Amino acid sequence: MSGQSDGASPFQMIEIPDVEGVTAEGSETSAGTAVALRRATTDGGDGDGGGGHSKVVIIGSGPAGLTAAIYAARANLAPIVLAGYVPGGQLMITSDVENYPGFPDGIQGPELMDTFRKQAERFGTRMVDKDVERVDFSEGPFRLWAAGSEYTADSVIVATGASALWLGLENETRLRGRGVSACATCDGFFFRGKKVAVVGGGDTALEEATFLTRFATEVRMLHRREQFRGSKIMQDRALENPKVSVSWNTEVVDVLGEQVVSGLRLRDVVTGEETEEAVDGLFLAIGYKPNTDIFREQLEVDERGYLVVTDETHSRIEGVFVAGDVHDHRYRQAVTAAADGCKAAIDAERWLESQGIAETATASAW
Ligand code: NAP
Repeated sequence: MSGQSDGASPFQMIEIPDVEGVTAEGSETSAGTAVALRRATTDGGDGDGGGGHSKVVIIGSGPAGLTAAIYAARANLAPIVLAGYVPGGQLMITSDVENYPGFPDGIQGPELMDTFRKQAERFGTRMVDKDVERVDFSEGPFRLWAAGSEYTADSVIVATGASALWLGLENETRLRGRGVSACATCDGFFFRGKKVAVVGGGDTALEEATFLTRFATEVRMLHRREQFRGSKIMQDRALENPKVSVSWNTEVVDVLGEQVVSGLRLRDVVTGEETEEAVDGLFLAIGYKPNTDIFREQLEVDERGYLVVTDETHSRIEGVFVAGDVHDHRYRQAVTAAADGCKAAIDAERWLESQGIAETATASAW
């Protein structure tokens, strides 16, 4: 997200209107920006919801899902992407993306996803902007249901991503992309010479606080307890940095600022006292929720709810493949998710070929 590193405002604005049905906590993106994406692609996508069969059905439309679609479509597999009501994944709440290779001047997150989508559509991907509500992977062809329609698939690629958790405050949602972020790697750069706050007490918060010291003049960690949950080594690294300070037993109760973040209203959870603190940015590092609820009965999940993969992209069910942040809690980058989508499509195609469903030799014609 975010915008310029210099100048009056550290942010470039993207409109993220309040949208009914999109919850703050755990929501992956904004339906407002999704509307823009759909408008930009109406002529290419049929936007239908009529059910059907494909050799490959891809669930999810972030970098992993759409890269899988590009590869599967180019292998003549005519994939269906069940893109979700809010397509595009986490990049839809990102403004400037400056670390995706190929864009030396950066690109807006929604625009990048629009290019992914157009590229997938160009080779014959059918996009369905509906959420998958239920799946049955007990036997092939696999069955999936979205908005009352049934889809069947010889193979499935699960690329439903993970959602950063948010506090759920109204102004936090309003100021997302305008000083509120859940990704220091993506947005830290825009806070050069600024003061920022990081919420959370786990390894992510400690890592992000340390990372942010490269840019910010002051990093205030806000933790709701008086003890970090993160590892000792990460604690030492953060706390040894003179730019990092900690407010223990502290909750954020409001985010202040009209156009961009200007401060926080904080509450001491022990005394109940409320204070205000001026900051230019607020980074949430309170965890991620992998979007795996509908798969839990059928695919293996780890103790944190992420899908378990073997041999790069394979799930425990033959013919069901996995790509992107839905299993990867380590890298969580658009470029790594895209690479994963490519691998999953190649693996799916090779599997289809081994089953006599796809023509031999297309797999080598990538
Ligand atoms: P986490 O360990 O679950 O920590 C989340 C933190 O956010 C906790 O301190 C929690 O507070 C706080 N929190 C949760 N909900 C909150 C809320 N509503 N308001 C305020 N605070 C809230 O998550 P994580 O830090 O993302 O780490 C996830 C996993 O990834 C961990 O296993 C971690 O070790 C691993 N990880 C490793 C590395 C690394 O090794 N380089 C880097 C990042 C993450 P409480 O402590 O009070 O529950």
